[in-house]
Order: sequence, then structure tokens, then C-alpha cells
Amino acid sequence: MPANVPGTWTLAIHGGAGSMSRQNLSAAEDAIARAGLAAALDAGVAILEQGGSALDAVEAAVKVLEDDPHFNAGRGSVFTYEGRNEMDAAIMDGATRAAGSVAQSTRTRNPVTLARAVMTASPHVLLSGEGADAFSVEQHLEQVDPAWFATPERLRQLEELKNRRSGHFDIDMKYGTVGAVATDAQGHVAAATSTGGLTGKRWGRIGDTPLIGAGTYADDRACAVSATGAGEYFIRIGVAHEIAARVRLQKEALEQAAATVFSELTEMGGVGGVILCAPDGQHAWLFNTPAMYRGSASADGARRIAIYGDEG
Ligand code: ASP
Repeated sequence: MPANVPGTWTLAIHGGAGSMSRQNLSAAEDAIARAGLAAALDAGVAILEQGGSALDAVEAAVKVLEDDPHFNAGRGSVFTYEGRNEMDAAIMDGATRAAGSVAQSTRTRNPVTLARAVMTASPHVLLSGEGADAFSVEQHLEQVDPAWFATPERLRQLEELKNRRSGHFDIDMKYGTVGAVATDAQGHVAAATSTGGLTGKRWGRIGDTPLIGAGTYADDRACAVSATGAGEYFIRIGVAHEIAARVRLQKEALEQAAATVFSELTEMGGVGGVILCAPDGQHAWLFNTPAMYRGSASADGARRIAIYGDEG
């Protein structure tokens, strides 16, 4: 792994992988998504260009996307089968490999901030359900009525799913999980991911997002990874850790490590995407869906926002 060039920082974000295309996304929806991604990049960049930490940058970027009702995280999360919003989130610091996550959070405005509190203010890594909600109150994090998270469009999607009577969740529908990875000027990496999960999830289903090593991972010896997609496959493969392990132990480049793990994912029938960045400031993304909401910015002034697969 080449050493970090002092002052080099990078940020990559995603707003979910899925079946978006120029045919099924209106010009207005396309523009709204790009504006949301731009705002999240701005929030993270503001921290990194001041010499702030990768950890602060990924939290800030994810918070913007959680507050944006067009993404499936925080406000705008998809509904469970019972018509609730139950959110999962995780954050990890590559410098120390400290991590925190929450599953089935229902009242904290920004689940990623709750995940960070689990990391910094509890002896645990993963808290769930009522306990996670109670811990959030104890930590004086911003509480909202559960109605804050609900949007008419997500309710419509739940009804559509139920009308199909497939009894299954939205494996074919658009995803919208959000995530960020960053490298700071000190060469530390961090990752954060946040989601409402899958439309129509039930029986207390928890996806890959809050499982450290599945949907989220960061290690200064390798890279930071945030994933989106059909969580069950990401859990079975341990996608985020598997990619980081290949980078660390096999000395593979980010693209190569992600491609190797994705060929296994694709073979198993899993769909989704990842964003990655390394301590030297390189970043990459990969998805096997037609599209992934994504963006990146780095210290050299490069900045990209893209949705469809053919945007490079
Ligand atoms: N990975 C998330 C989950 O399975 C969903 C997504 O990425 O959209 O909960």
C-alpha cells in the first residue's frame, strides 16, 4: 500500500444500488437524487478540507442523506410489513478498528449518530430495538416521532409489494441505502452505512448494513468499505471484510479485490454495490446492478456524481 501523500483526502458516497435507468427515473427524480448526493459530498468535503477526520466526514455525509426523504435511510426509510420504519446503521474507524452499530432503531433522527455513540459511549458494538432506542435517549441524541421517517412514496411501495402477494421483500425494487467512505489528510480511513432495510421486511429481519464486516468495514491496513444491495448475500460472504482482507493480505488493488468478491456474489445470485477508499487516497466503486447512486470528491479537486452504469 503506497503511503498517504500528506494533505490527500478523498470521500466517496452511495445512495443505494438498484434497477434505476433513464427509462424508469424521471428527469425530476434524477435531478433530486443528484442534488442530494451533492449536498452529502459538500458536508463531508467541508470537514476533510479543514483537516478533519475521516470519521467525522462519513458521519456528516450520511446524516445529510438520512435527512433527505428520497433515500432509504433515516427520513424516507422503507416500511416493514407491519408498516413501521426500523433503521439499521453502522460506523467504523479504520485507525483503531473501533466500530458501532444499531439495528431496528425507531426514534433517533440520525441512526448513524446513534451508531457512533454505541462506538464511543458504550462497551458494545451492536445494539438493537428497544435497547438501542433507550440508549439513544440516555445519550441525549435528537429524538423524533416515528412519523418523521414516514413518506407517502414508501407507503405506496409497501402497498405495491403487498398487492403482488409474493410474500417476499423488494429484492427486485430499487434500493436506496446510503453510505460513505473517506480517507483523511492523516491517512486514516472510515466507513459508515445507514438504511431502512428492505420494503416489507418482517420477523425482525436485520440486513448487512449494521453487521461489521458484511455491509460496513474500515481498516487503515487495507481500506474502508460501505455496501448496498441484497443484504442476505452480503452477510453470507462477509463482503466488506472479505474485500479488506484481500487488500491487506493479497495486496490486491481496490478494484481487483472488489471484483473478485463480486464475482462470487454474482455467482450466488446476490446483487448490489460497494464504495471503497484506501489510506493513500485512492477510491473505487463497483456494482452488478444496472445503477448505483454515487459520488466522490478528493483533494485534487476531482468531483463526480453518477447514477447509471454507463456513467463510468
Ligand atoms: N443492504 C440493505 C439491506 O439488506 C439494503 C440496501 O442496500 O438497499 O438491508
